[in-house]
Amino acid sequence: MITIPERISLANLPTKIEKLDRLSAQLQGPSLYIKRDDQTGTEFAGNKIRKLEYCIREALDQGCDTLITCGGIQSNHCRATAAVAAKLGLKAIVVLRGEQPDTYEGNVLLDHLLGAEVRWISSEDYRDHRMNIMNDIASEVSAHGQQAYVIPEGASSGIGAFGYYTALQEIVQQEQELGISFDAIVVALGSGGTHAGLLLAQQLLETSHRIIGINVCDDEQYFQKAISTVIQESSHYIDQPVHIPLKAIEIIDGYVGKGYAQSQPQELKCIQDLASLEGVILDPVYTGKAFYGLLEEIRKGTFEDMQNILFIHTGGLYGLFPHASSFRF
Ligand SMILES: *Cc1c(COP(=O)(O)O)cnc(C)c1O
Repeated sequence: MITIPERISLANLPTKIEKLDRLSAQLQGPSLYIKRDDQTGTEFAGNKIRKLEYCIREALDQGCDTLITCGGIQSNHCRATAAVAAKLGLKAIVVLRGEQPDTYEGNVLLDHLLGAEVRWISSEDYRDHRMNIMNDIASEVSAHGQQAYVIPEGASSGIGAFGYYTALQEIVQQEQELGISFDAIVVALGSGGTHAGLLLAQQLLETSHRIIGINVCDDEQYFQKAISTVIQESSHYIDQPVHIPLKAIEIIDGYVGKGYAQSQPQELKCIQDLASLEGVILDPVYTGKAFYGLLEEIRKGTFEDMQNILFIHTGGLYGLFPHASSFRF
């Protein structure tokens, strides 16, 4: 029995697993299922809340009263952190990449509504110095007699990854209830913590799933390194040696398209098609790209030998609306 860290309960769990009947029939390949982690809660919605349950438990155990984190202007993670902070009576400081816009929409609107303090930094500073900048803000906070906890981008830290360790346990339980087993679990890769948590659990609990990530930025090599770093960090929290060979980190690279948060017509069409066929809405930054990649790979026969594939819908709906003008109807 492996003992993992404690969490606080914030998300609406377990999230449902639904079969995409009409799409599966069209594809004539493996049956496709979707896990609705976009329904973890209205303000919290998405995958970040599972990771935050562990990070924030650690923050509270350390006596912290302020959460500092960072992300892009439409960061789902910053919005979820702002929402939790408000719910628990903590202060949130979110460091956003880019220029302050004239009007707020989507997640950045919600950050403000939720009372987070928003600070803006340049893309270069974000890329090269975001951890230092957040640590400096933490020192500033302690000079004022408060205590801050810094959550790295996407809550993809060793502790945060346990959110998806627990999610895999939840999936195993649901497989028993539904009487099915998934050959592969597919996720979008943004900062890698979701994949890291699933893979950590898959290895330690010795389940038979293939955990497959489809990156929406950077490349395979970048994510193999990022994911193994997170897993190494996680291993310090459990009294269990963890050795995950790089080749166990399965990544399908090739669907970044025009770049992070930039859409191509075929990705947008995939979002539109799924919405009208199944009533499920994906986001253009993460799930839309990854799901488009998954369907392309199914069409190419990559998953020919599989019966059931589970795609985790990691959320991101609020980030869809700022892209309204990209869609053509
Ligand atoms: C952050 C995010 C992801 C990526 O998860 P990581 O753990 O950062 O790899 C996927 N989908 C959505 C909607 C996200 O907000």
